Amino acid sequence: MTEKELLRKEYLNKTASLTVAEKKEASLIIADKLLNCDIIKNSKNINVYLSFKNEVDTSFLIKKLTDCKKNLSAPVLNGETLKAVCLNENTGFTFNRYNIKEPQGKVQQDIDVVIVPLVAFDGSLTRLGRGKGYYDRFLKETNAFKLGIAFSSQQAERLPCSKLDVKLDAVITEKDIFTANGKNYI
Ligand code: ADP
Ligand code: MG
Repeated sequence: MTEKELLRKEYLNKTASLTVAEKKEASLIIADKLLNCDIIKNSKNINVYLSFKNEVDTSFLIKKLTDCKKNLSAPVLNGETLKAVCLNENTGFTFNRYNIKEPQGKVQQDIDVVIVPLVAFDGSLTRLGRGKGYYDRFLKETNAFKLGIAFSSQQAERLPCSKLDVKLDAVITEKDIFTANGKNYI
């Protein structure tokens, strides 16, 4: 196995070992922290993933962002990359080949913030994903603020970073906010 494959296994096991209650509590705290950030308060167009397996649960966050009248979209597989499809109260859904839920609708053209899922992250804001590079391809095409959300146990000492890995601008966990300039707010 490669170093990235080993790390994926290690960190997927860590999130799998959290209880349903632990994941729910942390996901609510993360949503709360995120909603309090100026970058979110000052942004209208937000792309947010629909949580899958042991990722930080975004369902509460999506409800709150909808209440705040944000324009939301969620990722949909589009060849080797992702596209942002608009999400609102009337949106219908399907499941893609990985069994991840996807909205049906039109593409959101402008995105201010992308809320990014991850398997692990480190202090230099390197992201480890599930291994297909979809988010690397998607994020390289946007100027949007790249905001990872994660459980604190997903923080690694140091992750390998290839030149195709797109760094995040910040990561929010239930305990901290990590940024490139070391500030704990965004
Ligand atoms: P993940 O980001 O999901 O952890 P990797 O970083 O290992 O996964 O990337 C998965 C694959 O996608 C690798 O072979 C990587 O080279 C490829 N990849 C990532 N970004 C790009 C890109 N911008 N163009 C082409 N291939 C890419
Ligand atoms: Mg990558």
